[in-house]
Amino acid sequence: MPRAELEQLQLGRLRTTVELVCNQVPFYRQALDAAGVRPQDLRSLHDLQRLPLTTKQDLRANYPFGLLTVPLDAIVRLHASSGTTGKPTVGPYTARDLANWGEVMARVYAAAGVTGQDIVHNAYGYGLFTGGLGFHLGAERVGAAIVPASGGLSKRQVMLMEDFGATVLTCTPSYSLVLAETAQELGVDIRTRLRLRAGIFGAEPWTEAMRQEIEAKLNLEAFDTFGLTEMIGPGVASECIRHDGMHIAEDHFLPEAIDPDSGAPVPDGEVGELVFTTITREGQPLLRYRTRDRIRLTREPCACGRTMARMSKVLGRTDDMLIIRGVNVYPFNIESVVLKVPGLEPHYLILVDRPKDQLDELEVWVEASAELWQRGEYQVRETEQKLHKDLADTLGIAPRVRVREPHSIQRSEGKARRIIDKRELGS
Ligand code: ADP
Ligand code: ZN
Repeated sequence: MPRAELEQLQLGRLRTTVELVCNQVPFYRQALDAAGVRPQDLRSLHDLQRLPLTTKQDLRANYPFGLLTVPLDAIVRLHASSGTTGKPTVGPYTARDLANWGEVMARVYAAAGVTGQDIVHNAYGYGLFTGGLGFHLGAERVGAAIVPASGGLSKRQVMLMEDFGATVLTCTPSYSLVLAETAQELGVDIRTRLRLRAGIFGAEPWTEAMRQEIEAKLNLEAFDTFGLTEMIGPGVASECIRHDGMHIAEDHFLPEAIDPDSGAPVPDGEVGELVFTTITREGQPLLRYRTRDRIRLTREPCACGRTMARMSKVLGRTDDMLIIRGVNVYPFNIESVVLKVPGLEPHYLILVDRPKDQLDELEVWVEASAELWQRGEYQVRETEQKLHKDLADTLGIAPRVRVREPHSIQRSEGKARRIIDKRELGS
């Protein structure tokens, strides 16, 4: 769709959404009043910036059903995010929300070249988490054969991928590494015995260096895919075969990038916090929801022909930035460095501590490859020194570094937890 036409569509849908929440949701009626905006004031998409922002705290304050625009009768599904830091975030869907979810998820598959001929092995977790059922819905919509494997029981998963001849794998990037490792343990040669051609990986941040690792280990083309429970789950944005950013389903979710401190808009091409407004949701539409994800946006046309805006890889969350001795450290940057050092595996852990009356300490653990470990202590120490130097150069502070033996760092079936911040534990 030409952008001018798309923007017309967006404006119409935006107005409908603002009217809906203004009429049905007391929280939004008050917020719009306070901002001095009425639905009819929205004349162009620029007026989006006049609307109030919504935060995760607002969702918590209205937990569980305070932001619904329809009676519970009209809700046919309730998901929830993990809620590691308090009450979970609720994802309520009407029948039409589910239909739209299937539609945007079908696009995710189509953009990766998946068709009705494919066999999709879906190892995103099924349950309250939106990943499993979201990818399930979209695969059915494109007519692919879906294998609802969910997370865990990795040996059986490898067997099924081989026996069923899966051509597409969907899971978190970190779990894809576990499957690769399990295949190796089982003596299943991925190149000759598996038929995987594409992998659609998301739900957690991963670097370009990680993509290369995964593509090499699993012998497939890896696509990045993005979503969040608050919008609809997966299906919000996804890569096309150009791998030059993720196309946003902009006819359903209006993207903005803002300065996280001032709230001012950030121009395309610069890093900002991603903010989304849902423009087709019925169950729980959200205005200008602050995702806390740091990204760049572009509206330049893509070589694939799609006109939808693209977002960069998520460069980190504003809330997972570590401040260590006054220096801002993003885990994403640590991953980029770690994966460039030869002899290391893509399994790492970041530890932060504040020993009594001392300065913060950053420590990075990474697993050695089996080859490096076999070459002995001296080589391992040498690699450690290289990693130490590269991290210090990139981060601007010198972490302690430990290269550990293979398989010593815990694996993850879903989203990996790679940061242990002992300062939060009150030490
Ligand atoms: P939770 O807050 O429990 O993690 P969600 O499952 O809704 O809830 O997770 C959404 C978040 O996951 C996003 O806001 C983003 O931080 C992260 N995420 C999802 N997809 C990606 C991706 N492709 N790259 C990086 N981060 C992602
Ligand atoms: Zn494209």
